[in-house]
Order: sequence, then structure tokens, then C-alpha cells
Amino acid sequence: MSAPFATVAIVGLGLIGSSIARAMRQSLADTTILGYDRNPEVCARARALGLCDAYHDAFGPELADAQLVILCVPVGAMADAAAAMAPHLHSNAIISDVGSCKASVLAALRSALPHATIVPAHPVAGTENSGPEAGFATLFKGRWCILTPEASGDAAAAERVAAFWQALGAEVETMDAAHHDLVLAVTSHLPHLIAYTIVGTASDLEGVTQSEVIKYSAGGFRDFTRIAASDPVMWRDVFLHNKDAVLEMLQRFSEDLSALQRAIRWDKGDELEALFTRTRTIRRSIIEQGQDDARPDFGRDHD
Ligand code: NAP
Repeated sequence: MSAPFATVAIVGLGLIGSSIARAMRQSLADTTILGYDRNPEVCARARALGLCDAYHDAFGPELADAQLVILCVPVGAMADAAAAMAPHLHSNAIISDVGSCKASVLAALRSALPHATIVPAHPVAGTENSGPEAGFATLFKGRWCILTPEASGDAAAAERVAAFWQALGAEVETMDAAHHDLVLAVTSHLPHLIAYTIVGTASDLEGVTQSEVIKYSAGGFRDFTRIAASDPVMWRDVFLHNKDAVLEMLQRFSEDLSALQRAIRWDKGDELEALFTRTRTIRRSIIEQGQDDARPDFGRDHD
């Protein structure tokens, strides 16, 4: 199969941007990669890693060579980045992104680029690490990439973007941006909010020392600390840009938490057990579908 694009520009060379570049080097070796990051120091680090074919800390006429431009910057930076690149884009270029929420990003891109072909995307894959060194070529393998094209959008352009992600090893699903935001609010955004809360609460506890929190963290806390170590700027933007869906899910979560609180207070063991049995089957389904590791202790190396 021929490559879906001859030249691709990646804007933002952090975890996701650098992972795309690495995966392209493996699977789309003939595609030219133009790398952009506003931070010249990040460009220098990406150059040292050999991620792209060219590096720029500002947009210029060379951007017109790109048939696909993928914005890999924090969600709150998408509008400014799109406005800055607008004068240099080829009129046939397809604009995409990897933002963790889609409705607000689509609105921002549409407003900055009223006549462009836009195919928003969200690879549902990541880690708690940031920067060009944090990326790896297999990040998207076997993971979902959700496309949220406009209803009136260019179907052929969406197919080319889908082919691009499939070439990087991802499975592609298409849905409406608002639906994406609701689904991700419960599967990703709320869990991050809970992790940030639990780790914050534990670190504020009087009567339990910091050293005890760290020493006995294997009791469950440790897994929350991994999520709570995620990039503060990226997650600040996700909550501010997916406000409605997150608040809706938070409301439901608070109600369910109150029900659990009541079950504990009134010794309703059967209610607790029924819930915990139901949640265990969800974990099993995730493993069966290859979305996590079934090895003991999440596959941690104990050598
Ligand atoms: P990251 O590692 O922090 O990388 C973001 C890069 O974008 C940084 O190099 C940053 O430069 C640069 N940047 C920030 N504002 C910019 C601007 N206005 N113009 C150009 N470059 C700019 O973040 P990431 O984890 O790759 O996240 C990037 C996007 O992917 C976000 O939209 C996020 O929602 C989405 N996403 C993340 C994950 C995940 O797990 N991390 C998963 C799926 C999707 P500075 O160093 O100067 O700030």
C-alpha cells in the first residue's frame, strides 16, 4: 500500500508528536516529516534524537509542502498554533490534531482556519511522561484512534487520515465530537481527576506522614500516583475544555460515591460485594480485548 501522505508536519514534539514521528520512521519510512515546536530547545532535542527531516521553531513557507499537518500541542494552545500556521498552509492540506477533547478543539480549528479541510483525531494512548524523549514507536500499536470529522466534512480526507493511523498500528473508530467528549470524560478525564484528588488528599493528611504514604504506597495508592504524575498543563487544559462532560460525569460519580458511603455506614455488605463483582468483570473485559496487561501487578518488573 502506498503511503497516504508524502509530507507530514508534526506541530509539538512532545510525547505524542515524537511518538508519531518514531512510528512513522518505522512504518512510513518514505514520508518526509517536518517537525515544529515553539521551543527551540525542544527542537534541538528532537534533532539530536533524529525524529524528523527538518526542525522549525516558527512556521514558514516550507509548511506549504505538508499534505497533512498534525497539531500535537496542549488543547488550550491549538487555537494560537492554528492561527500562526494559517498563512503558510497549502490550500489542499488536511489539518488534524491529537487533542484529548474534541468539540472545543474542532471549534478552535474551524474558527482559525474557516476554509481548511479538518479531520480531528484522538489516539487513546499515552503515558504520564512528557517531552520528545518520552515518546516511543509502538505507543499506538493496538490502541484506538478516534476520528471526529464534521458531519459535512470531506469523507475522502477522513479516509486518508484513518489510513495514516492504521499504518502506525492503531485501530480507527469514528464518532461525533460531543459523544467522544462524554465517553472520554468517564474513561479518562474523571479517573485523572480522582487520582489528582486522592494523591492531593493523602499528601495533606495530618497524622499520616509523607514517608508513610510513600512507604506503604503498594496498597493501591501507587497506581493513582502514576496517573497523578501526568502533565499539569495538558490536564489543566483538558478539564477547562471538556468542562460540561466532566461536570456531568463528576455529578454522577458523587451520587454513586454517596451510595457507597451509605452502604458502608449501614453494613450493606451484599451491596458492596455486588458492585465489586460487577467491576471485576470490566477489568477482565479490558484484558480480553488487549487494552491492558493481565500479568500480576500490571506486568511490573520485580527483578
Ligand atoms: P507534551 O509532551 O507536553 O508536548 C507538547 C509540546 O507542545 C511541547 O513540546 C510544548 O512545548 C509544545 N507546545 C506547547 N504550546 C505550543 C504552541 N503554542 N506551539 C507549538 N508548540 C507548543 O504533551 P503531549 O503529552 O505530547 O500532549 C500533546 C497533545 O496530545 C495534547 O493535546 C494532549 O491532550 C494530547 N494527548 C495526550 C496524551 C497523553 O497521554 N499525554 C494522550 C492522547 C492525546 P513547551 O515545552 O514549550 O511547552
